[in-house]
Amino acid sequence: MGFKTVEPSSSTTTTLLDDFLKKSNGYAVIDGGLATELERHGANLNDPLWSAKCLIHSPQLITRVHLDYLEAGASIIITASYQATIQGFEAKGLSRQESEALLKKSVEIALEARDIFYGSHTERSSDDFGNERTHQRRPVLVAASIGSYGAYLADGSEYSGDYGDAVTLSTLKDFHRRRVQVLAESGADLIAFETIPNKLEAQAYSEILEEENINVPAWYSFNSKDGVNVVNGDSLLDCASVADKCNKVLAVGINCTPPRFIHGLIQLIKKVTSKPILVYPNSGEMYDPDRKLWVQSAGVSDEDFVSHVNKWREVGASLFGGCCRTTPNTIRAISKILSKGSGAPFQQKESY
Ligand SMILES: [Zn+2]
Repeated sequence: MGFKTVEPSSSTTTTLLDDFLKKSNGYAVIDGGLATELERHGANLNDPLWSAKCLIHSPQLITRVHLDYLEAGASIIITASYQATIQGFEAKGLSRQESEALLKKSVEIALEARDIFYGSHTERSSDDFGNERTHQRRPVLVAASIGSYGAYLADGSEYSGDYGDAVTLSTLKDFHRRRVQVLAESGADLIAFETIPNKLEAQAYSEILEEENINVPAWYSFNSKDGVNVVNGDSLLDCASVADKCNKVLAVGINCTPPRFIHGLIQLIKKVTSKPILVYPNSGEMYDPDRKLWVQSAGVSDEDFVSHVNKWREVGASLFGGCCRTTPNTIRAISKILSKGSGAPFQQKESY
């Protein structure tokens, strides 16, 4: 059903998202923050594995949060594997096999949530000839999340991008390779490389995608704390160019970045690529890696965030969601404001 009928081939990379966007009036809504929502539902994430801890102890909470986002209007849900790494699980005493099974489980949970959502939003009707047809309100894609090496280190370096001189391109490729392979074979529709803090890591991903001939398309999403560069100071133009050059990459954008920088960052990305641009900023608060907590900044409120969405669309972005500290309410508001702009895409009924 749905997108699983698309044969994996090189053309998948270029057409999956184009087709998807065409069917949803040229834009799509991504989900919002996972960790905060898991905590709201009672999960204790005080652990280097962060939201991945729930894969082991409380997968039903992850299903719940995926469903909340689907109900709020998200059409792309991102798996709870951001901080799930084979190395991290092994450090917890799990075997290689168990670790890989947990990565797959993150995708299975999201696929299951999608099935539940489809099940509760599918209408049956008969045509004039008595043939049964089913209608779904909108297609949903499952994106397997891959966090940066810094997310695994859990020392805040995904927000500095500074891994030190000892970490080279091959360190990063060795670190990520098996996880990319496992998630590519998990049934996810795409791989979301998120919060990429420097150019080196983007290059590592591109080389893995090519060398392993990964047939699941990917998106690259960088983070910035100055509105011009990615967090380690590398030029966003250079980083987005790496994404543009890789034909396995179908979209490029920004996440986990204050909303006030997004407008300018979209304009920069547009200079170097014609691939769809995605943005899923954080709520405007800043993460303090030393204190390991979120602190209020001179950012914008939830309503202000949402009020920017149409401007981001005008300037060239086509996929919108939220990162840390955003909630189903944020996503509901984004869905609403976008549907007003282009004629209620979620009302359309099509057979998939
Ligand atoms: Zn974030």
